[in-house]
Amino acid sequence: MRYIEPHGHMVSRTTDDYQAMAIAGCQAVSEPAFWAGFDRSSVQGFYDYFCQLTQHEPRRAAMFGLPHYTWLCINPKESEDLKLADEVLSIILEFMDCPNVLGIGEIGLNKNSRNEMLVLEKHIDLAASNDQLILVHTPHLEDKRKGTQLILDVLKSDSRIRPERCIIDHVEEHTVGMVLDDGFWAGMTLYPETKCTSNRAIDILELYGNERIWMNSACDWGISVPLAVPRAAQEMKRRGCNSRQIDKVIYQNPIEFMSQSPRFNTPEGL
Ligand SMILES: [Zn+2]
Repeated sequence: MRYIEPHGHMVSRTTDDYQAMAIAGCQAVSEPAFWAGFDRSSVQGFYDYFCQLTQHEPRRAAMFGLPHYTWLCINPKESEDLKLADEVLSIILEFMDCPNVLGIGEIGLNKNSRNEMLVLEKHIDLAASNDQLILVHTPHLEDKRKGTQLILDVLKSDSRIRPERCIIDHVEEHTVGMVLDDGFWAGMTLYPETKCTSNRAIDILELYGNERIWMNSACDWGISVPLAVPRAAQEMKRRGCNSRQIDKVIYQNPIEFMSQSPRFNTPEGL
């Protein structure tokens, strides 16, 4: 089995996880910037984090033969502080030319607040002005549908944004249709028991097909499973999917999306 991990917060994981992923067939890992589990006190905290994502983590991944890619942003939770958000946005440009940066992400909404919306628009402008891919986090709260719609509306209102260059992550049964119908890519984040489980993700594939969609683990500092993608692939096999169908969703689709960035190198052997 071969796969790409499109959404791993590897700074929070151990080297054992890298090793297990490599052994399971991982060919590359992509790491969006996110909330660290606490609010950073200044822009300097983000500067160090972006150095970690662009310099240190690629070296750690390389020890296990894994190419490491990343995405930059200030996450929605910390975007409530508009002054801090502006400071962080101003340093992102410095890092945008690093060889492992694929785009802006994971941006989006958490509580669908006014400040979050303002900072979301600024990120979209930054991505559009610099021809970057976009990776979006959708809220987990009960208003996921409303939050997803708000995000899609903001993206669609900017004529420079091409939906095929944006992936909307954390989709579920009630949001995947609107994402795909508008031409965006959809990411299904796999969780062991709550939210989107492997079985629900496979149900979604059966209903909506396997174009413009991927699965990811979103492993981070919380309870999460770094091998969620190969485990879901195993479940696909058990439910009768053939190896071509599995390879398409867990390997070829992430490559198709990420290859829209000139910085992404297709793993050997495709
Ligand atoms: Zn994430």
